[in-house]
Amino acid sequence: MAVKEVNEEGKPAVNANGVPLFKNKMTKLDEKLDNEVVYEFGGPIGVVCMMLGFPSLMYYFWVCLEFNQGRIITPASYTKEGIIQFVLEEIVAKVKVGAAPTLIAAKIYLGFVLYSAILAYVMPGPVIEGLPLPSLKGGKLKYLCNGLTSWYFTLIFSAVLHVTGIFRLTSIIENFGSIMTIAIMWGFTLTALVNGTAVIMGKQHRMSGNVFYDFFMGVCLNPRIGKLDLKMWAETRVPWPVLFFLSVSCALKQYELRGYVSGPVAFMVLAHFLYCNACQKGEECIPTSWDIFYEKDGFMLIFWNMAGVPFTYCYSSIYLMKYELTTGQTIQHSWAYTVGLFITLLFAYYIFDTGNSQKNRFRMEQNGSFVTRAAFPQLPYGHIKNPTYIKTEHGNLLLTSGWWGVVRKPHYTADLIQSLSWGLITGAGSFLPYFYFCFFVCVLTHRVSRDMERCAKKYGKDWDKYCEKVPYIFVPYVF
Ligand code: NDP
Repeated sequence: MAVKEVNEEGKPAVNANGVPLFKNKMTKLDEKLDNEVVYEFGGPIGVVCMMLGFPSLMYYFWVCLEFNQGRIITPASYTKEGIIQFVLEEIVAKVKVGAAPTLIAAKIYLGFVLYSAILAYVMPGPVIEGLPLPSLKGGKLKYLCNGLTSWYFTLIFSAVLHVTGIFRLTSIIENFGSIMTIAIMWGFTLTALVNGTAVIMGKQHRMSGNVFYDFFMGVCLNPRIGKLDLKMWAETRVPWPVLFFLSVSCALKQYELRGYVSGPVAFMVLAHFLYCNACQKGEECIPTSWDIFYEKDGFMLIFWNMAGVPFTYCYSSIYLMKYELTTGQTIQHSWAYTVGLFITLLFAYYIFDTGNSQKNRFRMEQNGSFVTRAAFPQLPYGHIKNPTYIKTEHGNLLLTSGWWGVVRKPHYTADLIQSLSWGLITGAGSFLPYFYFCFFVCVLTHRVSRDMERCAKKYGKDWDKYCEKVPYIFVPYVF
């Protein structure tokens, strides 16, 4: 397609796919929105409760899974004494026995963290520019996207370690409680290190002035060690591979015990493989995402990525395995139910993958950072040719083609269906495999409301026009 316009830098303003480039100049509104402090999550009190509540909940659920076949346990009496006794005897005592930090757990978890940081530094991959940042007056940061080469290398390397017996992957599940404790401790430590360093270096951004709130939301936007972007590394390189290897570990353990891998356990390995693989193969799309562009790198992102995601999203796999170990029975379903869930997972994954890809590639085209990669799988409909969009007065474009012409958050709907399938594959014996789905509904609805509010401010009447054109958020004609 012929070049139609030239921007102020003399570069073509429309790419070959008919997508105009972003403007690089920041407006006062961009800077205002980027600096605006709005207390979220219930403000300082809310975030303190979350920082104490997340680890406590993780230990509580761990006790339910480890000692009670996933049943939710409650105090025998709700008097003060009854609750204290429950916490001390049922939770703390069991955590001391089964989830105390150990040297082997530290070696496994911190060894992997260090290994993944080294790979992020040295492996080859394309360098992609992020979005123009208001805090850099429209300047862009560069991101080395070597997630895919690191991921493939890790798959081969881990198989070699397991087969040769140098490191049996079943050790992960055998040390689950202790590894989780190390991850929790690391989540707090890394947050303190990142925030403390940012303060010492004077890299504060969008500060509220409340120490607890700023610890939670973060101090700086893009902490880096040389070319290693800590926020992007933490988003993709630790949580999803750890989650995947937890499921692989469960499957290998089942194989060791029974000589087979059941349908539900294989389902979880596939589900976690797809999610992890998607994060690595589409890594070049991440620099233009909301977390990288807007969110600061605080407890919320660091803790959640280092400990929360891998050690709470894994309950389905852990439940299937613990059930087997304690009852001696394998959870199985009818063929129709199992195959139906495999089809649901693959269909939801398809919409999730292509939905994210359509929007992110569209934004990369505007950013001038679009690249094609031979990453597996490249699904049909992941890149829209000659897309339709609304051109806003702000300058950015809002995509209205592909899944983005059907609903405003197609990737959220698909992601939620995936998370529900992770629960359904375990049956109805425990709530815990459904925890991720329930939690995710809250996370995504909260994200949607934050995002819509921000977009309404940013795009004004163009946002209304967009909402009129694409009236439904999650499900066409329903919501
Ligand atoms: P989105 O991909 O929804 O990004 C929101 C931003 O995209 C908006 O602020 C706006 O940015 C831009 N935008 C919105 N609509 C359009 C449009 N029609 N055309 C062009 N740009 C648009 O955000 P997330 O980063 O939240 O989600 C990415 C993926 O990550 C999702 O699949 C989600 O499910 C997943 N996720 C998974 C989590 C997990 O724990 N498993 C947690 C969170 C997310 P701008 O203002 O720049 O225009």
